Amino acid sequence: MLVVMKAQATPQQIQAVCEHIEQLGFRAHPLPGAQRTAIGITGNKGEVDRGNLEELSGVAEVIRVSKAYKLASRDVKEEDTIIRFPGTDATIGGRNLAIVAGPCAIENRDQAFAIAEQVAASGAQFFRGGAYKPRTSPYAFQGLGLEALRIMADIRDRYGLRIVTEAIDNESLALVAEWADVVQIGARNMQNFSLLKRAGRLRKPVLLKRGLSATLEEFLMAAEYVMCEGNYEVILCERGVRTFTDHTRNTLDLSIVPAVQRLSHLPVLVDPSHGTGRRDSVLPMARASVASGADGLLIEVHHQPEKALSDGPQSIYPAQFASMMDEIEQIARVVGRFLPRGIHAAAPAG
Ligand code: PEP
Ligand code: MN
Repeated sequence: MLVVMKAQATPQQIQAVCEHIEQLGFRAHPLPGAQRTAIGITGNKGEVDRGNLEELSGVAEVIRVSKAYKLASRDVKEEDTIIRFPGTDATIGGRNLAIVAGPCAIENRDQAFAIAEQVAASGAQFFRGGAYKPRTSPYAFQGLGLEALRIMADIRDRYGLRIVTEAIDNESLALVAEWADVVQIGARNMQNFSLLKRAGRLRKPVLLKRGLSATLEEFLMAAEYVMCEGNYEVILCERGVRTFTDHTRNTLDLSIVPAVQRLSHLPVLVDPSHGTGRRDSVLPMARASVASGADGLLIEVHHQPEKALSDGPQSIYPAQFASMMDEIEQIARVVGRFLPRGIHAAAPAG
């Protein structure tokens, strides 16, 4: 159920409707839009009695949302969600593309700084490195943990880049939320519902990767898990799905980009690195991702990929990343988007 407030509804009227909903035992989610505020109603107590809701002051109408996902849906919020990063001009969603780049894993301080320096010079606004790695083999490098989070915080101080890193369980979630600007939930955890609920209680944006064989509806329902706990800043990320294909590690499903954008207001990024698993495929699929209308890219970059402790074969060299940025800047223009180069202090409000 969705309560649509009148365009001229006052903050007090919105507050009163939210309180009324909560008194009925449901949860109210006020979602301000360009024209008016909508209030999503969630809860597992069955049907909401719409009768008296319609009579509250400031209410324009009460609508039933038939989709299984509600808060993630365009029925509830028509405009694209734009996530902002306080103190900077970086955004995810909206007209500007968001480029998230860095090594699969933080291996040591020198490696991380060498890569960060180069991706910053090419104009990325977000640096991503794994501190906690979900590896297929228990014998593979599992990440440096807290030490890596500290290194990334120093990278943010030095280059201004906002930090994206993965939480793999409840324990790492608390630490990642403390140190990072965006909390990544990996493909293997897309349906780890207790982790999603906890991420929903954070006040940090969550980058949610599509599960290895997740349908669009399952993907949006996973986002809904985060949102119904009160965290509306969810970024979706297509990273390829399992198919019979043997020429790439996964099959990058770019057709999900317009499908997500049709149904949901949430930003959707594409990760051609995990999506293909091959260095020589990353650039062509990065171009195609931007052409498809993606809101940004997640790219693995390593200065010495042959020595990388994880995902070396799909990591591109910093020089390749630099030319990728030049190319996608041009493609962005063709599809009515803009590639900001570099991160700057936010312009003063007004
Ligand atoms: C990663 O981003 O390094 C990663 C492990 O991705 P995914 O969860 O998509 O496999
Ligand atoms: Mn990786």
